[in-house]
This record gives sequence, C-alpha cells and structure tokens, in this order.
Amino acid sequence: MTTMDPRPTTAPRVVRTRAELAEALVAPVGRRAVVMTMGALHEGHLSLVRRARELADQVVVTIFVNPLQFGAGEDLESYPRDLDGDVRLLAGAGADLVFAPDVATVYPTQPLVTVHAGPVADVLEGAVRPGHFDGVLTVVLKLMHLTRPDVAIFGQKDAQQLAAIRRMVRDLDVPVEVVAAPIVRDTDGVALSSRNAYLDGEQREHARALYEAVLAAQAAAEQGSGAAGVRRAAEEVLAAEPGVTTDYVALVDADTMTEVGDDHAGPALLALAARVGSTRLIDNTMVVL
Ligand code: AMP
Repeated sequence: MTTMDPRPTTAPRVVRTRAELAEALVAPVGRRAVVMTMGALHEGHLSLVRRARELADQVVVTIFVNPLQFGAGEDLESYPRDLDGDVRLLAGAGADLVFAPDVATVYPTQPLVTVHAGPVADVLEGAVRPGHFDGVLTVVLKLMHLTRPDVAIFGQKDAQQLAAIRRMVRDLDVPVEVVAAPIVRDTDGVALSSRNAYLDGEQREHARALYEAVLAAQAAAEQGSGAAGVRRAAEEVLAAEPGVTTDYVALVDADTMTEVGDDHAGPALLALAARVGSTRLIDNTMVVL
C-alpha cells in the first residue's frame, strides 16, 4: 500500500460451504452487495467490487465456475482458476467475504428446475451458445438466495447477461437491486476478460480490432450514419483484421436485445463477438442514433 492508495488490504474471509456462508452472514451489517464472478480476477472485476464498496456496508464476492452455463466443447475444464491470487487481489479492493464453493456445494443434486431466460437469450450470445443464459440465470438466482444481497453489481461488458438478469429480477420479483458497472479496458483498449489469457502475443494484437470496431461504430453514430451505417462501420473493421473471424455485429435494444430498424432514432447497443484463433471475445458500446 502506498500513500496514494488508502484502501485497506485486509484479506477477506474465504468460505467454501453453505454452512460457513450462512454463519458468516448471520450478523446484521446494513446493506449487503454481491459481486458474482468466475474468478481469474482482473481490474474489471475489481471495479465492480469497488462500486459495491461504495453502495453497501458489506461486500460479498462469489467465485464459481458454473458448469451449467458452459456448452459441450466449451472451455469449462481449461477455464483459468487461481483462488489464492484472486483473494490477494480482493484484499486491496475492499471485499469482506469470498464465497468460493465447489460444484457439489452449489449443485448437491442435478437441478431439475432451472430458470428459462426467455427471448432476451435467444439471440446473439444465446444463439451461438444455446442454454448459456439459462445456466447463468439459474446460478445467479441461486447465489442471490444463498448470499441474500440488497444490491448486485454486474459488468456492462456482458451486456446481454445484464439484460437477462434485469429481466429475471423483474419478472420473478427478486428483491435485489441490479447495478451496472462500465467496461474496464486495458491500455490498448481491449476489454479486460479472463479469456484474454488464452491469447498469444500476436492474437492479442488482433484482439484490438474489437475495440477499434467499437470506436468505428461510435464515430459513425456521431456522424449521423444511422443504424445500417453504424453496423457496417464495425463490421468493416473486424473483416479487415487478419486472424479475426466475426461471429456477429448487432445493433439492438439494450433491454430486449431485439435488432433495431434502419430508421431507429435514440440509444441502441452495438454488440459484437469475434473469434481470435479459438478464443471467442465480445465487446459492446451504447450509441445514440
Ligand atoms: P466473469 O468472471 O467473466 O463471469 O465476470 C464476472 C462479472 O465481472 C460480470 O458481471 C462481468 O460482466 C464483469 N466483468 C468482466 N469483465 C469486465 C470488464 N472488463 N469490465 C467490467 N466488468 C467486467
């Protein structure tokens, strides 16, 4: 800790079981915030923890690689895991409690009842990753029940996930306030992601095209290009980058994820996904048309 950095570096308590968690949550503390993660933490996650710290008296971070949201052939086994490193980072960001359960703790039996994410999840990431958002919402709801937060902070980086969670909270009357936190980027503009660890040096340079596509979309929107022009601007940047294969570029309503028409005026979400080698990356930005 330097004099520039007055944050406490007390290590958060780490609990692994439901009983330990329940015991750690028993004392009343005022407002409780939760930040849900899959670990391999970076500044993006830590920004959520700091936001949580501003909003609540107690900050709980969950670390759980949720098998239910991974499809066959995805990176469930190889997903980066580093609990000790994560806890060290969380000490500096103001987390009080870390809940890091294993799979059998979260799913003592194969769940027969799960959350169906509905139409928000049928497009974009959901079209490429069938069942993904059902898995996300199921674990988010379970973790909300287990940690009982007043507020939960999610990253705008996963804009469709955020929309699906907001919709679940509304439709199922979940008594939790959902707060969005902005995308944290590396110095070269690439959105921080645990999956960036899969990129080699050259791929990492190609990955910058996603950010450049975001910038091109923003510039096109500012120049009044309209929906078609904004989409095209992002598509062209991705198409021009060797080593990058576009999965989709979409301009959608940020709440419903439905594609906006070419005559749309007002805010819209430009969302894109691309593969760099075998690594799938996503990025997005709000634009005003
Ligand atoms: P993950 O560990 O990838 O499941 O992400 C956990 C939370 O961190 C989610 O709410 C993500 O949206 C958020 N997050 C991940 N990367 C970033 C980033 N670069 N900026 C802001 N939030 C992020």
